[in-house]
Amino acid sequence: MHVSAIIAAAGRGTRFGSGAPKQLLALAGRPVLQRSVDAFVRCDLVSSLVVALPVELASDPPRYLRDAAKPILVVAGGERRQDSVARAFAAAQDRADIVAIHDAARPLVTDAVIRRTIEAAATHGAAVAAIRARDTVKRSDANGGIVETLRRDEIYLAQTPQAFRLAVLRDALALADDVTDEASLAERAGHHVRLVDGDPWNLKITTPQDFEMAERLVAGRPLSTALRIGNGYDLHRLVAGRPLVLGGTRIPFEKGLQGHSDADAVCHAVTDAVLGAAGAGDIGRHFPDTDDAWKDANSLELLRRAYDHVRADGYALVNVDVVVIAQQAKVAPHADSMRRNLASALSCDMSQVSVKGKTNEGVDSMGAGESIAVHAVALLQRDLV
Ligand code: MG
Repeated sequence: MHVSAIIAAAGRGTRFGSGAPKQLLALAGRPVLQRSVDAFVRCDLVSSLVVALPVELASDPPRYLRDAAKPILVVAGGERRQDSVARAFAAAQDRADIVAIHDAARPLVTDAVIRRTIEAAATHGAAVAAIRARDTVKRSDANGGIVETLRRDEIYLAQTPQAFRLAVLRDALALADDVTDEASLAERAGHHVRLVDGDPWNLKITTPQDFEMAERLVAGRPLSTALRIGNGYDLHRLVAGRPLVLGGTRIPFEKGLQGHSDADAVCHAVTDAVLGAAGAGDIGRHFPDTDDAWKDANSLELLRRAYDHVRADGYALVNVDVVVIAQQAKVAPHADSMRRNLASALSCDMSQVSVKGKTNEGVDSMGAGESIAVHAVALLQRDLV
């Protein structure tokens, strides 16, 4: 049994809105068309391929169509989809017993779906990969009024591949009606077309959103993430006889911050921002200052523990931004050192952490040099699907 696969790739993708035809765009590093072609080259039921390209590309096809492991014929497509398929069919029909037609815009087709369709066509004459409708299907009039609710258990959504015995497809294409798939022509020509299980991930790339979803599927990236923002604030008094430690960095200054632990207000504000983003309480709840375990504690270690806590709930840091309000102590020369320490505690890259210094224009306790205050925001993300 000689099976020839026709890959319909002549469309110009007017609904997609990019300059190049969408089937030529790289999807996670490999063009959409190449992925579709490769699926059929890999399938051991398929003997040869015919690819219908836009006419301007057909004379100089991409290299992956020339160096494939199976014979690939390239033909120039026509005006409509069925014109392209008819030209490809003319090139395929000499040798083929079965012809499988596939949209290049379905690059995620699996070997199992290809095999099912071809085997069913060999048995029944014609077969279409399709998925059962999961939504209730309404038929509407031109004004958006519902005319009819269709019986969902009778509704299937047709995908490709669609496979046909040679004679069936010849009858179908002879009709040359305006249709969106070849199965409808075969039905009109009076042939019985069999449904086989398609695959929900065998999606058709029509819009930029489809492309994004296909890319996430291929790259194993989540389809949806939740973003959560948290706000943290801390203020400590400046007193003599204490070292000034901010963001885990010792800053040379005549005073230091008063407090139970090392009084690192940067770490405390960031910890509260991280916990707040996850809705996981605050630093006082996790590390109470009535507990001697945290007396003189290294606040970077507290931050590390707080981040471990939210990570256990599936959160990951996107970024954190910190403002240190200090009238005299110079923050800027130590900002990178603080960023490095914070990034280490948060297991992230330094580029995800920002630390900025600010004076308080001589106003209030910060401006008078009596205290240092810190504001922080943290953005966390969690994968949903
Ligand atoms: Mg504090």
